[in-house]
Amino acid sequence: MEKTCPICNGSNFQKVFSHQKWLGDCFCCLNCTHIHYFNYNNPIDQSDFATGIERANYYLNLLKDFRYNSIADIGAPKDLYFLEEIHKSRPDVRKLAFDMFAYEAPSYIETTNTLEGINVDLAIALHVLEHIIEPLPFLKKIIEISRNFIIETPDTTSLKLAKNSTINPHYHCFTRQSFSYLLDLCKVDYKLCYRKHKRKYPVMSAHNLPMDL
Ligand SMILES: [Zn+2]
Repeated sequence: MEKTCPICNGSNFQKVFSHQKWLGDCFCCLNCTHIHYFNYNNPIDQSDFATGIERANYYLNLLKDFRYNSIADIGAPKDLYFLEEIHKSRPDVRKLAFDMFAYEAPSYIETTNTLEGINVDLAIALHVLEHIIEPLPFLKKIIEISRNFIIETPDTTSLKLAKNSTINPHYHCFTRQSFSYLLDLCKVDYKLCYRKHKRKYPVMSAHNLPMDL
């Protein structure tokens, strides 16, 4: 079967480099510039991630004055740092941790491996999208279940950064163009912002919060 771009459905690709983790070819879509890894035959365990503390603190600080009664951390790492920090100042807020993998959580955090039937004020997915084989339905679901959302992913617009991103089990290297393309398909109002975490690679976020990120 002919392969198509997971973002724009285009069918013209250029091989750009080998995935450093999976050692298969990565392709760049000649239509939307998305760089992706097609060979899903040998998935590796993606359950063992820790929270990026600096990144989490950035959003915790930003959300300090934002009002919400429920939050879902999408792709929450096992340490549950983000939700536990929120609990310290907002014990009243309903907290959900979504992940495909089961793990222990304190009683004030609900864990779930499905987004069906969930409805929250705020959904946040930090560095999750690049790990999802089919990002469009996943992103649509996040938007569907939330009033406000924050999606952050590495900004791998440059080939060098994209290649570097494949040290990790990322199926996707989003460029600014392909990320926008994907968001436009969701037919939702969003703002994009680009920034750098200290000493780290550039990232981009899409959100519909009333403030700037
Ligand atoms: Zn494409």
